[in-house]
Amino acid sequence: MNRAGLEEHFDLKGRPALDRLLRFEAPIAARYDAEHSAERLADLRSAILVGLVFYNLYNITSFALLPDTIGLSLILRLGMVTPLALALVWAIGRISPLWTERFVAAAVFGTYVVPVFLFWNSHSPLGLFTFGELSLTIIFANMLLTLRFFYAILFTSGALAVTLLAIASKSDLGTPLAFAFTVQVLTACAFALYANYREERRRSLDYLATLSARLEASGAHEATRTYRYLSLTDALTQLPNRRSLTDQLEKAFGQRRPLAALMIDIDHFKSYNDTLGHPAGDDCLRRVADCFARIAANTDGAFCARFGGEEFTFLLQDRGELVAARLARLILRDVTNLAIVHPARSDGLGIVTVSIGVARASWGATGSPQDLLHAADAALYIAKRRGRNQFSLWDSQAEQPAVVI
Ligand code: GH3
Ligand code: MG
Ligand code: MG
Repeated sequence: MNRAGLEEHFDLKGRPALDRLLRFEAPIAARYDAEHSAERLADLRSAILVGLVFYNLYNITSFALLPDTIGLSLILRLGMVTPLALALVWAIGRISPLWTERFVAAAVFGTYVVPVFLFWNSHSPLGLFTFGELSLTIIFANMLLTLRFFYAILFTSGALAVTLLAIASKSDLGTPLAFAFTVQVLTACAFALYANYREERRRSLDYLATLSARLEASGAHEATRTYRYLSLTDALTQLPNRRSLTDQLEKAFGQRRPLAALMIDIDHFKSYNDTLGHPAGDDCLRRVADCFARIAANTDGAFCARFGGEEFTFLLQDRGELVAARLARLILRDVTNLAIVHPARSDGLGIVTVSIGVARASWGATGSPQDLLHAADAALYIAKRRGRNQFSLWDSQAEQPAVVI
């Protein structure tokens, strides 16, 4: 589920998406299950196994307290509940978290009914002492298994109903004892359910708080990324902007690896704008920029930015003079191939072209990013003067235009 989907169901201002029965909204429940089902499974399995050991230990007390039903106790506890509980331990790893909770709640209820039945069925005078086991089982289900609160309510109400029924229908139970047992089971149910509610509420609220913090952190992260993208991108052309160019240049100068800069300027762009209008001018800039973005993407070590106005800059790293000259020719050719009609060129060429100045960084003591751009600009000026739609290479040693072969 994405962030927007979650927020629909989740109030980040602190009102959690929990209903009165401590159930998460469906999308949050799905997320919780995905993150916690392994942990929950391990907890349930260990609680069931520990519970089984204690449950069977009561066979020993049955020898003393329920001699008339000891056979039944062994059959039900060891022969029926134990294998079923072990099957449940195996099965809950293979069914959904929802069905796991349902089966566990149903199973612990079935387990509870057995001692109630033994208590009810026995006519042994000491049989009444087994009543303590019932309270323990109620506490076990609510606090050790920590049934989800909704299922804890179902289990506890069911356990209460069955026990009250057994007390009411047990013929050899006098009124004072029946009253005492009723109070005992009511107390155990209320106490255990309250403990379960507290535990479950804390678990749910803790999760929602964590989720909220995670969402806020990811929102801040997204905002930072968007801001960074916007601050480094030219709004009109979506190319990296001048600030981004400066960053790249400084990085490249820090590494002191071979570097060339190509200053590109659209020819006769003012007359294009004046004749066809500013929106057409913008459109032309976008088309030329898209062309440059494609070239940069297909050229190893190339980076292209909008320098400003109708000027663009390519940086070319780790390549020699010849490769830079080849890149300049490619740019000239691809812009010509765009065949953007320019009806107002003074030289009558009829399409949009560019001029390019190429310079290479010299790693002498005085070389700086500004020097490189100035050199490329000086070469560009030469290309313009020579008639446009061409490139010129700056010879940084001789501080003059290089001869291009
Ligand atoms: P040259 O061949 O010597 O480069 O001549 P030019 O007309 O291209 O050069 P000039 O610097 O005189 O004109 C550049 C024009 O670019 C002026 C300005 O109106 C236009 N321009 C600059 N930025 C934008 C922009 O973002 N959108 C549009 N539509 N036009 C722009
Ligand atoms: Mg210009
Ligand atoms: Mg121009």
